[in-house]
Amino acid sequence: MHSAIDLEAQYCAGNYHPLPVVLIRGEGLYLWDDRGKKYLDMMSAYSAVSHGHAHPRLVKLVQEQVATLNIVSRAFHSDRLGPFLERACELTGLDMALPMNTGAEAVETAIKAVRKWAYTVKGVPEDRAEIIACTGNFHGRTIAIVAMSDEPQYQAGFGPFPPGFALVDYGDIDALERAITPNTAAFVVEPIQGEGGIVIPPAGYLKAAAELCRQHNVLFVADEIQTGLGRTGRLLACDHEGVKPDGLILGKALGGGVLPVSMFLARRDVMRVFTPGDHGSTFGGNPLAAAVGLEALNILVEEDLPAKSAAMGAYLKAELDEIESPLIREVRGKGLFVGIEIDPEHGSARAVCEALMKRGLLSKETHETVVRLAPPLIIGKAEIDWAVRQLRDVLEDLGSMQLAS
Ligand SMILES: *Cc1c(COP(=O)(O)O)cnc(C)c1O
Repeated sequence: MHSAIDLEAQYCAGNYHPLPVVLIRGEGLYLWDDRGKKYLDMMSAYSAVSHGHAHPRLVKLVQEQVATLNIVSRAFHSDRLGPFLERACELTGLDMALPMNTGAEAVETAIKAVRKWAYTVKGVPEDRAEIIACTGNFHGRTIAIVAMSDEPQYQAGFGPFPPGFALVDYGDIDALERAITPNTAAFVVEPIQGEGGIVIPPAGYLKAAAELCRQHNVLFVADEIQTGLGRTGRLLACDHEGVKPDGLILGKALGGGVLPVSMFLARRDVMRVFTPGDHGSTFGGNPLAAAVGLEALNILVEEDLPAKSAAMGAYLKAELDEIESPLIREVRGKGLFVGIEIDPEHGSARAVCEALMKRGLLSKETHETVVRLAPPLIIGKAEIDWAVRQLRDVLEDLGSMQLAS
C-alpha cells in the first residue's frame, strides 16, 4: 500500500478519482513520481500548465516577487495589477478586466456582469434576465454554474438551483436564434468544449452566434478558460473565426502553471456596471498573481506558443490519424487540444489512460469515452513521436486482450 495515497484516501474528500501515481517533481514536459519514475505530461493539469512545469522565467519571477510583495487586497493599489491587466486587454482586444483566482470565480463574475448589464443598460425587467448556455457545457462547479449544466452528476444532490439559465444544443445556430428573448442578457459558450469531450462545433458557428447576439443586443461571452492562451493554435480559440467576444473568461494557463489566476474581460460599457462593493475577491489581482500572470502572457508571446501549438497539434493529429485500431472511433482537435474517442464496445478511456501511465505517459479520460491529449505547448516532434508510439502499443495490447477474452 502506498502511504501518500492512503493518507489522501483517509483525509481528502473523495471528489476525484485520480490515477494511482504520486507526483513529487515537475520540469518542462515531465513529471516524476515518488519512486523516481519519469512521465511525459500529456494532460497539463487540464491545460493549466501550457508553459511547462516550473518554467525558469516564472520560477525566477516568483522567487523575486514572493520576497517583495504578495498580498495586499484590493483595498489598496499595487504596482503589479495595472500592467498585468493592460497587457491582457492589449492582447485580447478587450477594454477592461476584473481579476479573480479560479476559473469558476471568473465565470461567476461574467454571470453577474451580464445580468447587471441587462438590467442597467439593456432594460430587462428586474430579476428576469436570462443567460443562454449550451448542452454539454463545462463552466465550473459553483451552484450558479452547475445550474447552467445539463450533466446530471454535476447537479445531483446539490439543488435547489438559481433560475435564469436556458440551454441550447451546442453547435445549433437555429436553436440559439429560437432561444433568444427580449430578456436574454448573454450567450455563454466554450469555443471548443473541453470537459465535454473536446467537442468542436461546426465551422462558422461561433461567427454566426456572435452575429446573432449583435443583432439582438445579447452579449456574446466566450469561456476560454481552457481553449484560450494558445491551447488551440491561436491566442484565443475565437480567433479561428475572427470573432471578437463582448466578454471573455480566462484562467488556467493564465497562472503560468504556478498559481490560480483568472479574469473576466469585457467591453468598457459592460465592465462599467461594476461599482465599489458590488463584487470582489480577497486574493483576486494580488501582486504575486498579477506578476505571474503578466510574465505568463509575455512568455506566451515571446516563445510564440500559439504557433507552436498549431504546428505540433497538426503533427500530433496527423500521427494519430495513422493509427488503425478498432478502439478508436474518432480523433478530433485543434492545436494541442486533442481528444481520442474510444469505442465503448472495444475498450474504455480509463483503461487506456491507466496503461499509458504504466508506460510513463500521463493523460486523463474525460466523459468516460475520450482520452485527452493536451501537453504543455512546448512539446516537440520527438516527444510526440514517443507518445504516439506508446498509444499505438497500448491500443494494440488492449485490442488483442479483447480478442483473447
Ligand atoms: C476548468 C474550466 C472552468 C473552471 O475553472 P476552475 O479553475 O476549475 O474553477 C471553467 N470553464 C472551462 C471551459 C474550464 O475548462
